[in-house]
Amino acid sequence: MRYISTRGQAPALNFEDVLLAGLASDGGLYVPENLPRFTQEEIASWAGLPYHELAFRVMRPFVAGSIADADFKKILEETYGVFAHNAVAPLRQLNGNEWVLELFHGPTLAFKDFALQLLGRLLDHVLSKRGERVVIMGATSGDTGSAAIEGCKACEHVDIFIMHPHNRVSEVQRRQMTTILGDNIHNIAVEGNFDDCQEMVKASFADQGFLKGTRLVAVNSINWARIMAQIVYYFHAAIQLGGPARSVAFSVPTGNFGDIFAGYLARNMGLPISQLIVATNRNDILHRFMSGNQYVKDTLHPTLSPSMDIMVSSNFERLLFDLHGRNGAAIANLMDTFKQGGGFSVEEDRWTEARKLFDSLAVDDAATCETIAEVYNECGELLDPHTAIGVRAARECRRSLATPMVTLGTAHPVKFPEAVEKAGVGQAPALPPHLADLFQREERCTVLPNDLKQIQTFVSQHGNRGKPL
Ligand SMILES: *Cc1c(COP(=O)(O)O)cnc(C)c1O
Repeated sequence: MRYISTRGQAPALNFEDVLLAGLASDGGLYVPENLPRFTQEEIASWAGLPYHELAFRVMRPFVAGSIADADFKKILEETYGVFAHNAVAPLRQLNGNEWVLELFHGPTLAFKDFALQLLGRLLDHVLSKRGERVVIMGATSGDTGSAAIEGCKACEHVDIFIMHPHNRVSEVQRRQMTTILGDNIHNIAVEGNFDDCQEMVKASFADQGFLKGTRLVAVNSINWARIMAQIVYYFHAAIQLGGPARSVAFSVPTGNFGDIFAGYLARNMGLPISQLIVATNRNDILHRFMSGNQYVKDTLHPTLSPSMDIMVSSNFERLLFDLHGRNGAAIANLMDTFKQGGGFSVEEDRWTEARKLFDSLAVDDAATCETIAEVYNECGELLDPHTAIGVRAARECRRSLATPMVTLGTAHPVKFPEAVEKAGVGQAPALPPHLADLFQREERCTVLPNDLKQIQTFVSQHGNRGKPL
């Protein structure tokens, strides 16, 4: 499989190189040159497969030529073996034909484990073959950092540096990162905000001299491997609900448009998905596009669903690329316009095309809490605020009651006790057994000033299993 850039100017890469790349050299994002397509018979024959075996069948074409079948099978069995639920991604019924796909049974209790547990193992596999080491630098406002650290902790060829804003992540989120100890794991609490952290990661990708030749790898959702891993659970859910003979609809709590883009790809690979709902919080740039063809930057509003607090959705460029007939020059133009003026619309027929599949809703904090309480009172299920936004959008935007509606359950409610308390449905739930002693564990973290030079010096001093590069 070959991968091309959404801006049309960077060289095509194979899977291995895409795994190790960040942005393409022209500023674009990598996407498969040709999407694999499965027949209805093929998809039907996958009913009843364990999750890792389904994952092998769905993802095999994407890694073809880079990772041998036997190796890939073994990696997938290990990856999904660490999940705390035997079904890996169980479906829970809320109502007649309404479901939540629970994606929070991984080590860090959010859906990001599906991709980052795999990414760490794939990196180590490829790097040991090449005899190389890499450094990962990432910025997190919470979920990505812990999932990336958990995914890389056993990697022999990776040193990972995760920056979080000092004193601005919840205690559970901080401890999920800082209590994972290893000489290749480096938590940096930056005396600044999330955007400061993000900016320093970007600046480090742009000028890598301080790494003395060691390659820098991205773990945010611009990394293709993350999107790839998320395609699998759409198949997993739809097949259980009667697919491919029957269509299924999905509602997806969305920030960077990564998770829902995976659903769009699943449909283009042959899975009958009749509707995809973009569910945002008050940071609603995607909702404003889907409902009114306006992609315009707004200021950032902190909400009860912090993992979706974004101003710009990085993966949206991947959808725009398809909407524009995969014309890289057109995307480069649009993105330039966006950078200069802060907004754009697309031609009416392109927008109409998107609206055949996508609907959207923006849900504010009050409606989020209302939905947590509503669902709890209806069936005793306690939703996290991100999932609640998905359920709310599913209920308001649903096109057909006869089609099963699946909301992606993106996080466990224990990670977001504030929303649960505000919803007034009693005590926040207890930590699951594998995290029960989280508050007693030893923490390791370095506090550094909001200063690029000092961060980069720290990385070069510790980037080789804690020793200088
Ligand atoms: C990251 C995250 C999201 C948003 O996912 P995107 O792929 O960025 O759209 C939603 N919910 C939770 C709990 C998350 O951690």
